[in-house]
Amino acid sequence: NRQVILKEYVSGFPQESDMTLITSTIKLHVPEGTSGVLVKNLYLSCDPYMRGRMGIVKGFFFDPFTPGSPIIGRGVSKVLRSRHPDFKEGDLVYGMTGWEDYSLIAATQNIYKIQDTDLPVSYYLGILGMPGLSAYVGFHYLCCPRKGEHVFVSAASGAVGQLVGQFAKLSGCYVVGSAGSKEKVDLLKNKFGFDDAFNYKDELDLDTTLKRYFPEGIDIYFENVGGKMLDAVLLNMRMRGRISVCGMISQYNLEQPEGVCNLTSLVYKQIRMEGFLVSEYYNTYPKYLETVLPYIKEGKMEYVEDIAEGLESAPAALIGLFAGRNVGKQVVAVARD
Ligand code: NDP
Repeated sequence: NRQVILKEYVSGFPQESDMTLITSTIKLHVPEGTSGVLVKNLYLSCDPYMRGRMGIVKGFFFDPFTPGSPIIGRGVSKVLRSRHPDFKEGDLVYGMTGWEDYSLIAATQNIYKIQDTDLPVSYYLGILGMPGLSAYVGFHYLCCPRKGEHVFVSAASGAVGQLVGQFAKLSGCYVVGSAGSKEKVDLLKNKFGFDDAFNYKDELDLDTTLKRYFPEGIDIYFENVGGKMLDAVLLNMRMRGRISVCGMISQYNLEQPEGVCNLTSLVYKQIRMEGFLVSEYYNTYPKYLETVLPYIKEGKMEYVEDIAEGLESAPAALIGLFAGRNVGKQVVAVARD
């Protein structure tokens, strides 16, 4: 059983060398007297929040990983053996699993059976999973979009952002996205239907840039990056605008958070800025699936994944999120079936 292990707690920018691939033995059975499930891992998800679990981060929501143990994350897996009444051999499941070929998952851990196998099963790590629900909840529940409103999305080509843009279009909004390369900007405009998009790395002054794309201001900002982008957005929000704070990836590897100076805009423009944790909204997941599955099947929504091949590619794939190497949702294919 190959495993990707966290070597030591990380501070600053994570490196591939913070993780290593080892081989251990695992008995391919579920111990008697337990109600666990033994799975073969097919796809693993790389998500920015995992950086927080690689170190001791003050106030972070999740427990840190254990050095010397496999990285834990979301995955899609196939059941090989089960002592749990809800799962049988051959079932496809998604939920928390280890970065390894095979995992023994305790019955108490949340795993779910995949019901709809017409679509790529890796979608359960993206559009049909946690990032999809984040985009939906953060946009619809927190921002309450109205037709014709002007929406800005940062990290717009990523797992969450590409969906926010498409939900905004389906709601009749005007939407502009920012991303870190020409390839990503082209995707936003040509594949996901954003009205406009720009490469933030080419812009000298983000305030001026936003004034160019939003001469009348921004009604809704879907925040994925934080830092300088948030500061410039605050200057360009309209009265009673809404900011949904999904994440702030530009801050995750900094020892000291980068200053945001324009928060008084919240007061005089009466902006509502609200953070959320998707884990608090899993009760809405069945409704979300009912909404989004037809959109995909009717060709009303697209989803782009970036699939790295092999468990050995997982450390580079995870680190790549913080350098913008992923184009779309970053997934690692460990095995195809
Ligand atoms: P992405 O697929 O968008 O991957 C991360 C992207 O962030 C990179 O590709 C890169 O794109 C961009 N990025 C990396 N570093 C920086 C930086 N310093 N400044 C600006 N952009 C940067 O990730 P997700 O869609 O999975 O996640 C997006 C955000 O949503 C993250 O902040 C994440 O933590 C958050 N999140 C929060 C959840 C919640 O419950 N609140 C749930 C899920 C995600 P580019 O090339 O465009 O720079």
